[in-house]
Amino acid sequence: MGKYRVTLIPGDGIGPEITEVVVRCLEAVKVGIDWDVKSAGEEALEKYGTPLPEDTIASIERNGLCLKAPLTTPVGSGYRSINVYLRQRFKLYVCLRPFKLYPGVRTRFEKVDLVVVRENMEDLYAGIEYRCQQPETRRLIDFVRETTGQEILADSGISLKPISETNSERIIRFGFEYALRNRRRKVTAVHKANIMKYTDGLFLEVARRVASQYPQIEFEDRIVDNMAMQLVQKPELYDVLVCPNLYGDILSDLCAGLVGGLGFSGGANIGEDVAIFEATHGSAPKYKGQNKVNPSALLLAAILMLEYMGEAAAARRLEQALADVVREGKYVTYDLKEPGDSSAVGTREMGEAILSRL
Ligand code: NAD
Repeated sequence: MGKYRVTLIPGDGIGPEITEVVVRCLEAVKVGIDWDVKSAGEEALEKYGTPLPEDTIASIERNGLCLKAPLTTPVGSGYRSINVYLRQRFKLYVCLRPFKLYPGVRTRFEKVDLVVVRENMEDLYAGIEYRCQQPETRRLIDFVRETTGQEILADSGISLKPISETNSERIIRFGFEYALRNRRRKVTAVHKANIMKYTDGLFLEVARRVASQYPQIEFEDRIVDNMAMQLVQKPELYDVLVCPNLYGDILSDLCAGLVGGLGFSGGANIGEDVAIFEATHGSAPKYKGQNKVNPSALLLAAILMLEYMGEAAAARRLEQALADVVREGKYVTYDLKEPGDSSAVGTREMGEAILSRL
């Protein structure tokens, strides 16, 4: 029996192909993982009549660790995003996404090594919304008029933005602890406290308080619009960014753009008892079964999982093998080649090249 038991969701579309490569790589670094393979998404919907069977949920709960390939969310099918559901079900309050530029990737930048730590439970993402012209919306508009004297137009829809001291403290502390564990030098808190004083202002106040308990880590804050500009002008100045939910969402994709797109972005959703690791791209259904796409994002998610397990040496070996293959630029998928270059290899062949370096 292996040292770890991990729920594995091979996913939809290109999911099974990239999963196969990643599983082989993880087996090659011999940390002792037993896979508990479970179904979710389209396949589960066809087989079991639900995109997220109870059996899959129970497996994640039991194992506490899950590696998940992308799942298709059919438009207008009536079921909610499984990713959002899992986040809420297991209270995965952190979304952790490292963005490192590997030489050989096509990008405009030279040095990028950022980590976005995003709050995952509240902010405008809490899903508390009032539809335009509904009685409860009118009551809310009346309440706002009575308590603040401010007039909201009667034909408005309203989304609430709760930001709590509790969740802010938890995510900011995670950011500092992550920085300590991973020998990072600086944490930057991102906000718009100049405008939203009672939500982002609270986030910033808590960030300053927590920062004072970590004197060995440099701390600074940035207003989110300025942060966006700074990241595209001088990303090398930044290190760990701790963000409320919405800014974290937007800046994560901006950072993915700095390091060559979603094909190079793996992430983790982490709670007290459960952590789910995933590629951040989708299931790219048009490439399903074509042995075409880049397995790197799911591999980076797996590397993050190894770090989380405390298997740092295996994580570094795997990362180095991937970095070598990408730098060499020979056995890489189409997205890593110059436009018009027809020498790309398939998912499996890129996987073989990585394996040969382990
Ligand atoms: P997508 O990320 O699946 O694909 C967009 C395009 O990006 C693809 O057509 C392809 O050109 C490129 N691409 C994506 N992954 C790649 C890879 N590994 N290598 C090379 N190129 C790659 O986004 P989409 O088309 O908007 O979504 C398809 C489905 O995936 C939808 O059902 C969506 O809901 C779902 N989705 C799931 C997740 C998840 O499970 N975490 C995330 C995003 C989207």
